[in-house]
Amino acid sequence: MNVPLVLTHFLDRAVSLYGEKVGVIYEGRELTYKQLNDRVNQLSHGLADLGVKKGDRVAYLAPNTLEMLEGFYGVFQLGAVMVPMNIRLKPDDYVFILNHSESKVLFVDQELYHLIAPVRNELKTVEHIIVQGKNDDIDEIAYDDWLAQYPVTPFERPQIDENDVCSLLYTSGTTGNPKGVMLTHRNNYLHALSAMHHLRVSDRDVYLHILPMFHVNGWGAPFYYTANGATHVCLRKAIPEMIFDYIQKYKVTVMHMAPTVLNSLLQYYEQNVPTVEHNVRVVIAGSAPPPAFVTRVEKELGWEFIQVYGMTESSPLSLVSTVRSHLRHLPMKEQYRMKAKAGYAMIGCEVKVVDEYGQEVPHDGKTIGEVIVRSNGVMAGYWKNSEATMEAIRNGWLHTGDMATVDEYGNIDIVDRKKDIIISGGENISSIEVEGVLYEHPAVLEAAVIAAPHEKWGETPHAFVVVRPGKEVTEQELIAFSRERLAHFKAITGVTFVNELPKTASGKIQKVHLRNEYWKAHGKAGRYV
Ligand code: ATP
Ligand code: MG
Repeated sequence: MNVPLVLTHFLDRAVSLYGEKVGVIYEGRELTYKQLNDRVNQLSHGLADLGVKKGDRVAYLAPNTLEMLEGFYGVFQLGAVMVPMNIRLKPDDYVFILNHSESKVLFVDQELYHLIAPVRNELKTVEHIIVQGKNDDIDEIAYDDWLAQYPVTPFERPQIDENDVCSLLYTSGTTGNPKGVMLTHRNNYLHALSAMHHLRVSDRDVYLHILPMFHVNGWGAPFYYTANGATHVCLRKAIPEMIFDYIQKYKVTVMHMAPTVLNSLLQYYEQNVPTVEHNVRVVIAGSAPPPAFVTRVEKELGWEFIQVYGMTESSPLSLVSTVRSHLRHLPMKEQYRMKAKAGYAMIGCEVKVVDEYGQEVPHDGKTIGEVIVRSNGVMAGYWKNSEATMEAIRNGWLHTGDMATVDEYGNIDIVDRKKDIIISGGENISSIEVEGVLYEHPAVLEAAVIAAPHEKWGETPHAFVVVRPGKEVTEQELIAFSRERLAHFKAITGVTFVNELPKTASGKIQKVHLRNEYWKAHGKAGRYV
């Protein structure tokens, strides 16, 4: 008989094999897996008492806390649906997500309650708001007291099918309005099995939660590390100083993060921690970094670098970078270049790069096509948006909207989002490639390249740059620097210096905002407005 692929199994396994082991560390507290499970049971009893039933939506607005981690399993035990929300949105966005998902209960971290208070009356379906953390002056249910009323006895679970939806994850909104992605237990379960294999997760791991759990990249971590009896270290704010402190204090072995965060770690390390002692075996980044960056991480920090590619709609991962054993004789420079590419299809995933007629592009490292994915992780669909679902999943393949090339080794390199590609005089220019060159300049801390309107060429690359503290560089210098290293049509033709770049909560640069503002400021409606 088949065992249903239901996520509650992961915590059950950790409790039975690693019940007395420390499962979670949060703000100086250490909880064993058994203690975590007790809290999870209390939470499920409490939710049932509030009238939450199978299929009901339960929303979360919290950073990486113990309460967030236990929320996953507490909600899943009821067969209910978790709706984790990005903590960097505006009150109106929460009104949209909570009403759109028809959430019944909202858990909110006390530090974020001010985002909900002004719109509380606009929430049409939320029956209970429960505030986590100290909340003496907030007139809502207090989580700790509420949880303490309920027994730690096992919760009697309803029948949960592996194809039941377990989460509604709203996309990052990098390119527009967030969409609610419906993922099933089966999606997350099979994705987790594949990811834990490729990331070589074991019970010796200590995982530091840097990527937010509410975002789909961070969202997988409560599954892979729990199933294997590894230890979770939760961190509310990913500040470099704290990260290095935790790495040493808790002997962290693995972290996932956006390259922007990794970049700030490198910076901090160079300035402050010349000889940090650590147990870190690998760092995983979910975006394309320039090869020079991979070299620095592996050489300076001494951490193995793995790049992954994915999107909310596919649970998320489908590609993982690796240098296959029969290619390890290649010069290190070549190997770093390989690791800077998104890589190969993970187990349980089929990935193709196709042209506009659906034909696979040649493996020449230069012909660009769209990435399409067929995998166990591909979503059940967008919530209440069948039109967008039909557009995204065609003939069983998820059309990612990401463009890539494939090299002679079959290694897939994400070139850009379809929407971020700059089309200049009929040539496609990858904004990521141009950014990669700018990052080689010692004065560049962060760079984002967008399509700017151009009289003659239609569009031209324009850079937004944050300068490293204590360094100086001019627009002309950066233009010349990019012209020396790139074909001239790819070189930037202008620079806007800024103090910071707009980012999503997971640290991704929102080029759509830069582009819209730039086009508006130059009196153009813009392609994407
Ligand atoms: P929205 O869909 O709301 O605009 P989003 O696409 O940023 O937001 P996510 O699902 O969080 O939301 O991010 C997935 C996207 O991130 C991918 O489609 C891709 O563009 C980008 N991405 C992920 N991994 C990589 C990678 N390794 N290299 C380059 N880009 C990546
Ligand atoms: Mg997307």
